[in-house]
Amino acid sequence: MFPELDLLRNECMNCTKCPLHSGRRNMVFGVGNPEAKVMFVGEGPGEQEDIQGKPFAGKSGQLLDKYLEIVDLSRNDNIYIANIVKCRPPQNRDPKPEEQDACIEHLRKQVKLIQPKIIVCLGRIAAQRLISPDFRVTSQHGQFIEKGGILFMGTFHPSALLRNPANKPHALSDFQALRDKIKELSL
Ligand code: SF4
Repeated sequence: MFPELDLLRNECMNCTKCPLHSGRRNMVFGVGNPEAKVMFVGEGPGEQEDIQGKPFAGKSGQLLDKYLEIVDLSRNDNIYIANIVKCRPPQNRDPKPEEQDACIEHLRKQVKLIQPKIIVCLGRIAAQRLISPDFRVTSQHGQFIEKGGILFMGTFHPSALLRNPANKPHALSDFQALRDKIKELSL
């Protein structure tokens, strides 16, 4: 049904462009509606994601789904979720810049095929890579920034919220701002 996306998925499944390929159980391509107007991008797969082959599959995924539900979004329906790198960094460390460099073209192609109007960056790694290298989640979360015809917004990574629940109300207000933006743009 989406042959170009399937081709890209196959390309990623066979990819050996960076050392992360050697430790992966599954390449984690992305999930959701390929025609979604809103896309979420995290940093990379963790242990559960590597086992299940899906992004945000563990406890952080459950928290993300909760926020999505509050603002009438769902990965089964009206959004698409992917990551900066598609193979798991060992011990859940941050993906190295050279690993991000190797993988970012896959994400660029994915974005080109999906054509989202809004991209929400989940956490520092995604926001610094896609919005600005000096992006600070704590001070700039929730702001919409237009780049190349797409509105970008950075917010807290669900794993960071599990570690520091004090930021949960800020994350909730970011998701509510997202819902307002979707309404404003009639997406
Ligand atoms: S992380 Fe990306 S670039 Fe590296 S091996 Fe996996 S798919 Fe290829």
